[in-house]
Amino acid sequence: MRRIGEHAVVLGGGMAGLLAARALADAYERVTVVERDGSPPAGQARKGVPQGRHLHLLLPRGQRVLEELFPGLGDELIAGGAVVAEPGLEHRFVVGGHPLRKAPIGGRAIQASRPFLEGYVRERLRSRPGVRFVEGCDVVGLMAIGSERVTGARIIGRVKGGVEEELPADLVVDAMGRGGRTSVWLEALGVERAAADEVQIGMAYSSRYLRLPPDALSDKVVAVGPRPDWPRGMAILAVEGDRHLLTLAGVRHRNRPPTSPEGFLAYAAATAPPDVFAAIQAAEPLGEIVAHRYPSDLRRRYERLRHFPAGLLVMGDALCSFDPIYAQGMTVAALEAVILSGCLAAGADDLPRRFFRAAAKTLNPPWRLAVSADLALSETKGPRTTRLFNAYVDRLQETAERDTAVSEQFLRVVGLLDPPSRLVRPSIVARVARTGLRRAAAPVTEGAGRTPDLRPAGQATGRAAPNDARATPE
Ligand SMILES: Cc1cc2nc3c(=O)[nH]c(=O)nc-3n(C[C@H](O)[C@H](O)[C@H](O)COP(=O)(O)OP(=O)(O)OC[C@H]3O[C@@H](n4cnc5c(N)ncnc54)[C@H](O)[C@@H]3O)c2cc1C
Repeated sequence: MRRIGEHAVVLGGGMAGLLAARALADAYERVTVVERDGSPPAGQARKGVPQGRHLHLLLPRGQRVLEELFPGLGDELIAGGAVVAEPGLEHRFVVGGHPLRKAPIGGRAIQASRPFLEGYVRERLRSRPGVRFVEGCDVVGLMAIGSERVTGARIIGRVKGGVEEELPADLVVDAMGRGGRTSVWLEALGVERAAADEVQIGMAYSSRYLRLPPDALSDKVVAVGPRPDWPRGMAILAVEGDRHLLTLAGVRHRNRPPTSPEGFLAYAAATAPPDVFAAIQAAEPLGEIVAHRYPSDLRRRYERLRHFPAGLLVMGDALCSFDPIYAQGMTVAALEAVILSGCLAAGADDLPRRFFRAAAKTLNPPWRLAVSADLALSETKGPRTTRLFNAYVDRLQETAERDTAVSEQFLRVVGLLDPPSRLVRPSIVARVARTGLRRAAAPVTEGAGRTPDLRPAGQATGRAAPNDARATPE
């Protein structure tokens, strides 16, 4: 790619910032990544990314894109101890109460903790000529010529007596995550505040590393999604260091997963399939239980602004943050880096408008998937089109319990390999419709569950029942 500028600055060295830096390194002589945290020891979580202590699954599309951006990275991760799995066949998903039939979707899943993955990506960038990290430094504002052009960032070292410095740049990329203050700084420059789409969800997470007995669990990922009548979920992921990371999640206060060891286990008992809970119960706990809250899906609509300053882009969670339960964030950040590369190849003219428009198109499918699923869980049910879509998806998931083709298509869509429109192609609709006909023809028996209930095992063994006070501390 031809060089289009001298210096680009990335604000924030999380996954989105690192991937943005990768794209920028082809188009600028120098790229500086400014990060509040110092460099952590290999594989250790950082303060600036508290979510890094919770389960992070890279979706199949993200896996592909990451390996395109960093050829050979997958093999390096595996050599370093990451777990490799065949997605679709070694992953078990229960969605809307429906255990999906395993289906080959191709490729390989490389599983690791978030700090481990981020560490490898950071090291790859560090070894790239022209890329520099300024760590232990807060970004405190933008340099700008009125509202016309951002010309750099103002930073201050996190040391006693640290003084503010200016970091001039041809292009500044905000990747400071969901809590970034760019929209406030832009307003101070006289730029109209971008509209934001927000869906309140109130998801809470608790996580802990475990060491499972050998062969206790053959699946390398098991994930049980929350459902409207039981808004709790769990996921367990095999990661580096012969460990598993277990994350429990629940919507709203009464379903918040506890952080006490007993409460955590009781919640897992009431949420995990029985064989998975048996493995969890037999495991050695490693380290403390950590909690995280995620208030809402939040998307800032910069593409709709009539005016946006030249020299500035916003990426990653700072642009759009999704309910983590759908594991989309890192994959979307990787897709945005690819979009950025494409935009840079066409030069610097009109870059923000071109980038935000292209990013909005890419964000639409995962945003709609996450928001419609979250609306099904929330007390606000959303517009009629969403309710119809959700009713169809529920039936599709039921079909996917038995039908490999439907399961494969569903997994490809939620893995962001295929667009959601594939769920309504005629061959899939016909298979889903047959489930509807079968359901209509089935005799109605009193008390027959709509979906397989994951709870009886917990109740049968005397473990915490779904609404047991032990599992739902207020
Ligand atoms: C509980 C949880 C689980 C998740 N699970 C998954 C998953 O399974 N799969 C998935 O793909 N995604 C998951 N995500 C989402 C994922 O973490 C993010 O979408 C992804 O990391 C992209 O984030 P980001 O780089 O934009 O922001 P962040 O990861 O938040 O990084 C922002 C960076 O900016 C730095 N920073 C912030 N402010 C400043 C400042 N003023 N000065 C200097 N530096 C600053 C921070 O220190 C941080 O390093 C999960 C999120 C949560 C909350």
